[in-house]
Amino acid sequence: MKPVIALVGRANVGKSTLFNRITKSRDAIVADFAGLTRDRHYGDARLNGREFIVVDTGGFEPDKPTGVVAEMAKQTRQAVAEADAVIFVVDVRNGLAAQDHDIARFLRTQHKKVLLAANKAEGMVESPLLAEFHELGIGDPHPISAAHGQGIRSLLEAALEDFPFDEDAEEAEPDPDAPIRLAVAGRPNVGKSTLINAWLGEERLVAFDQPGTTRDAISVPLEREGRRFELIDTAGLRRKGKVFEAIEKFSVVKTLQAIADANVVVLMVDATIGVSEQDAHIAGYVLESGRAVVLALNKWDATDEYQRQQLQRSIESRLAFLKFAPLLQISARKRTGLSALWKAILQAHASATVKMPTPVLTRLLIDAVQHQAPRRDGRFRPKMRYAHQGGMNPPLVVVHGNSLEHITDAYKRFLEGRFREHFKLVGTPMRIEFRSAK
Ligand code: GDP
Ligand code: GDP
Repeated sequence: MKPVIALVGRANVGKSTLFNRITKSRDAIVADFAGLTRDRHYGDARLNGREFIVVDTGGFEPDKPTGVVAEMAKQTRQAVAEADAVIFVVDVRNGLAAQDHDIARFLRTQHKKVLLAANKAEGMVESPLLAEFHELGIGDPHPISAAHGQGIRSLLEAALEDFPFDEDAEEAEPDPDAPIRLAVAGRPNVGKSTLINAWLGEERLVAFDQPGTTRDAISVPLEREGRRFELIDTAGLRRKGKVFEAIEKFSVVKTLQAIADANVVVLMVDATIGVSEQDAHIAGYVLESGRAVVLALNKWDATDEYQRQQLQRSIESRLAFLKFAPLLQISARKRTGLSALWKAILQAHASATVKMPTPVLTRLLIDAVQHQAPRRDGRFRPKMRYAHQGGMNPPLVVVHGNSLEHITDAYKRFLEGRFREHFKLVGTPMRIEFRSAK
């Protein structure tokens, strides 16, 4: 599971700036898609090849437990409870405030790893300014400047140092016989537990009554269509005896972790309601994570013609960036459409783990150029020479050549279309990376 780091601190200390700094360096395939809403409070980040999730919390004012402020404090508490490490941000220019003490007191009761980030420290003589922050009893402050990008790497390294990380595991070829890791994601009440219970109800081969493992993680083996699956910690669900039920509190962090941990995500939408903004957020995260995805339009049995039209419209406007995902009409309650859903899951997985041999990719590249060469940009003419596969789930194509930084997004999409068509990719995002010889 990806570790989760929560950013906590009073208003205006620089949490959002730090959040943006930590998350922005992603190879954002998302940037190419218009209309994609991004949940700016949760982000994916990477340091030295290690991936983690960052959560930005609202302000935190434990003294005013009413209204919006109370709600924010509640969310902050939840974020801290779900985090593996907390970065407590303070402002060196403003010095210590009473609220900082309140937050420190709260954090000390949480028994979490806490790092103190003394922000806005650019161009300041460190030691005397930082001394007062020892009072918080959180340990040595790490001087950083979120705005200028100083000290952030070592802060994150300290935050992540306790989490085991196997660098080789990232690069290893996926084992073709390993179970396919499957997550079911969606808002509360879309029918996740109903679907999973329908699956398990049909299950005769594999007993899932195994004692739970670490951290209330749920992992249930399943077998379908001759393939082994593993239902992973099921975003927002909990096992109760032999059935799954939704947990009272929808946890974005758990959803994000489940998505990150999966090979294929079944994203459920309530067909009677249409695609909500929250659905679009989850979908955006699935896209960003690069996971294969199948859209299950649930409660189809309860839709009328008007609702189907509304649904169609909301898919077009809110999920335009997931065009590659197959749409399945299902009823978890009536158990219809489920076998088509399994086929789509398998197809998405096959696409996500497709093998793309270098000669084939290079041939496709040459064909593409013959069809339409990349445009000259001033005195630079991008020249693509060959391509190789750089990864799976999602498929990554690395194109080598010269002046490739001048290739436009439109041309990149054109190439993607050619690759997708040839390898018949369905249900998986794909990435293209350009590497220019110096
Ligand atoms: P938040 O309310 O904690 O999320 O704080 P913001 O990220 O919105 O930042 C509050 C203000 O502090 C903004 O005006 C930022 O530009 C400024 N700020 C953030 N980081 C730094 C920094 O490293 N140095 C300086 N000088 N200002 C910063
Ligand atoms: P979860 O919160 O996503 O796990 O949702 P549940 O599985 O608990 O389902 C929420 C409600 O939707 C329950 O009342 C279900 O009976 C109902 N429901 C689930 N699937 C379907 C379906 O396919 N059709 C209809 N009509 N109702 C459904």
